[in-house]
Amino acid sequence: MTAARHRYPDVMRNTLVAVHAHPDDESSKGAGTVAHYVERGVRSVLVTATGGEAGDILNPAVDPSVKERLADVRRAELMEAARIIGFDEVVLLGYRDSGMPDSPDNAHPDALVNADCDEVLARLVAIVRRERPAVLLGYDEHEFYPHPDHLCVNQLMKDAFEAAADPERFPEAGPPWAVTHLYAPSFTARRIVTLHEAMRERGMESPFGRWLEFVDPDNDARKRLVSVDISDHLETARAALRAHRTQVDPEGFWFQVPLDLVREVYPYEDFELLATRSEPDLSSGDLFSNVPGSADRR
Ligand SMILES: [Zn+2]
Repeated sequence: MTAARHRYPDVMRNTLVAVHAHPDDESSKGAGTVAHYVERGVRSVLVTATGGEAGDILNPAVDPSVKERLADVRRAELMEAARIIGFDEVVLLGYRDSGMPDSPDNAHPDALVNADCDEVLARLVAIVRRERPAVLLGYDEHEFYPHPDHLCVNQLMKDAFEAAADPERFPEAGPPWAVTHLYAPSFTARRIVTLHEAMRERGMESPFGRWLEFVDPDNDARKRLVSVDISDHLETARAALRAHRTQVDPEGFWFQVPLDLVREVYPYEDFELLATRSEPDLSSGDLFSNVPGSADRR
C-alpha cells in the first residue's frame, strides 16, 4: 500500500498547497475548506511568507509586552492553528512582515516586499514541484485590503502557477509540475449581504454594516466563483482563528455572527478561480473539480 502511494502520489492522494502572507491569514481565509479536504484524505501544505512581526496586539486580554517577542508568539499561534485545521506540513518562508501601506516597516530590508522577487518565486516553485499539488490557493487583488504582503502573494502565486510548469524556468528547483487550478479565497458580496440580512432579521447588530458600503454585488458576477460547503467545519475554522490569541479578540468582529445562523444561511467559503489548465465545474462546490485522475472530493 505504501509503495503504491509512492509510485502514484497524484492519483492516490491529491494535494493542496495554500500560500498566505501572515500567521492568522490561514485561519481567516479558507480554513474550513482545508479542514474539509483534510477529512477527505487530501494532503494539505501551508506556506506562510512572513512572521507577522508588524502586527498589533488586537486582543485586550493579552499582555501588551508580548509585542517585544511577537514573532515567536505568532509562530506558536500559527502552529497551533495549523494543527487545528489539519495541515500536514507548515513551511515558513521567514520574510519579515512588510507592515501596512506607508508604514516604516515597509522599508525594513528583510521585509517580503524588499526581497528579490525571483528568489521568492524560486522557493515557491521548488515547493510546488516537490508537493505536486492539483490545487493552489493564493490571493485575489484585495481591493478592500491593500496590504503590501497580500498583494505580493497575489502576484507571486500567479507567477508560480506558470513558472512551476515551465521546464525553462528554475531548472534547479525540480522537474516541472503543472498545477490544475489556482484559486483565491473571496469575500463575496452574496456572503456578506446574506449574513448581514439574516442577522438583522433576527434583531441582532450586524458587524458587516460598514462592509456594505464597499461591496458591489456586480463584482460577484464578474468572478468565476466556487462555493465550498463547510457546514461540518465551522467550529474548526473559529477555533483556528481563536488560536491567534494576540490577533483576535474573542469578543470581537469575527465571533459576533452565531454559527447556527451561518450554518443555516451561508455555510460556504467562496473561492475565485484565478487560473486553470482544466476548466472546473464551478457549480460543483469542489475545488478539485475536473482534476485529471482525481476522484470526486465533495
Ligand atoms: Zn495578512
